[in-house]
Amino acid sequence: MNDMNEKCAVVGVFGVKGASQIAYFGLFALQHRGQEAAGICSNKDGRFHMIKDRGLVTRVFSEKKIKKLKGDMAIGHTRYSTAGDDSILDAQPVYARYDLGELAIVHNGNLTNAKEVRDQLIRRGAIFQTFMDTENMIHLIAKSEKDRLIDRIVDALHRVEGAYSFVIQSRSKMYAIRDRFGFRPLSLAKLGDGYMVASETCAFDLVGAEFIRDVKPGEMIVFEKGKTPKSIQVFEPDPHKCIFEYIYFARPDSVVFGKNVYNLRKRMGEELAEELPVEADMVVPVPDSGVAAALGYSQRSGIPFELGIMRNHYVGRTFIEPTQELRNLKVKMKLSPIREVIDGKRLVVIDDSIVRGTTSRQIVSMLKEAGAKEVHMRISSPPTTDPCYYGVDTPEKDKLISARMGTEELCEFIGADSLAFISIEGLVRSVGNDKNYCKACFDGNYIV
Ligand code: AMP
Repeated sequence: MNDMNEKCAVVGVFGVKGASQIAYFGLFALQHRGQEAAGICSNKDGRFHMIKDRGLVTRVFSEKKIKKLKGDMAIGHTRYSTAGDDSILDAQPVYARYDLGELAIVHNGNLTNAKEVRDQLIRRGAIFQTFMDTENMIHLIAKSEKDRLIDRIVDALHRVEGAYSFVIQSRSKMYAIRDRFGFRPLSLAKLGDGYMVASETCAFDLVGAEFIRDVKPGEMIVFEKGKTPKSIQVFEPDPHKCIFEYIYFARPDSVVFGKNVYNLRKRMGEELAEELPVEADMVVPVPDSGVAAALGYSQRSGIPFELGIMRNHYVGRTFIEPTQELRNLKVKMKLSPIREVIDGKRLVVIDDSIVRGTTSRQIVSMLKEAGAKEVHMRISSPPTTDPCYYGVDTPEKDKLISARMGTEELCEFIGADSLAFISIEGLVRSVGNDKNYCKACFDGNYIV
């Protein structure tokens, strides 16, 4: 069982003709945040229409299907989940009929008290359809004693803990909500006479929506026909924005938490070059995750940038994972070295993170086989030593290689000539010395 609601994307469109089409394009732009399943729920005059299925956004939807999703309101979701829990039931939006009508919810994040709340609800007779923590919200809203939906949502929000960016659709309104820590991003834009919210601003760019601002930590924005959106500060903000959004998650063209992702990744590379210089002939990125940092490293160090590793973009999720041998094949399917570029050369290879160590180990051996004289791995994040409970899909602590090995031992394990990670201070410097970030995956400091 997997009751986690991992790295995902959400969108919401309100007061726009053909809202489901806009939601579709929004999800298309956010596909990098989850490839497991996709779904859209639209609403025409209070009647809900929903399509969700496993697979990529382009597989789940066709023009014909989008046409069925009528109305000028729509919410959408793309889901990422770890292997073994691929049930269609666990795709979003989560939909329900209840005493006030119909309701649909999409969620990016992870509720840390999900099990506790769920067990309580089940003891009181609730029947769950999915393993998702998001379903708790539906039950809490349906069971609240309050009369108005908005008060019921606020009630429910006081019962859940952890990370959430929610978009909720009722028969006449849409609600965009971010937890008080602001772990996961959620941004607001204007689109024609209506509005759009999305996990990342790259969704706005594709449909020509104009970015207004982020939904604030602890804020709920209520969208109602013919009215300007109303902001309600449900909780006192206590920002702990996920720094991993900048390192790996978000698309480089997005503005996340007010800053462009590409520029910050380059800064991390510059920081790496300063903190951890090495003598080499070329800087080679692990595509695509290491490209921006490698450019920064190259520009700061003066060592030329070369695309010594090619990436096959057509490798989706593969089902071959049972043995280490096959896991290795998976990396090979995705990445291959250009012998003519790297043969006889000393390389600084840049990637964004080491999680289990599979990728780095494979890359080093691949590069050496292709003739690299030296391989110096430089990682634009600190060692990932602790799992994330706030929505990033990291394995349990005992599978995190940096929780088990120090840098020297890990260097030997991956077979590199040297290995170094950016320092936590260096990382914080590169994101502008802002202290309001969650770095729990690197320092184990969990706020909830
Ligand atoms: P590993 O092979 O387990 O060490 O994974 C490291 C690689 O996975 C790096 O190249 C990262 O770009 C990528 N990565 C890091 N975090 C995640 C994540 N949460 N989901 C999927 N891939 C990731």
